[in-house]
Amino acid sequence: MGLDCTYCGCDVEAHDPVYVEERVEGAREQTGQFCNYGCLSAHVEAEELATGTVCNLE
Ligand SMILES: [Zn+2]
Repeated sequence: MGLDCTYCGCDVEAHDPVYVEERVEGAREQTGQFCNYGCLSAHVEAEELATGTVCNLE
């Protein structure tokens, strides 16, 4: 029994898992887990494509 990769859906514990935490209203909250940095960076890229307009405002 393990966690599914946020990006590809594989069992992260079968690989070399990477966990992502974000500060949400002052508290640390785990927002994702990934097989490895490959899945992490692929997911971040996909998210940035979806929300890219936010970064471009500055
Ligand atoms: Zn994965």
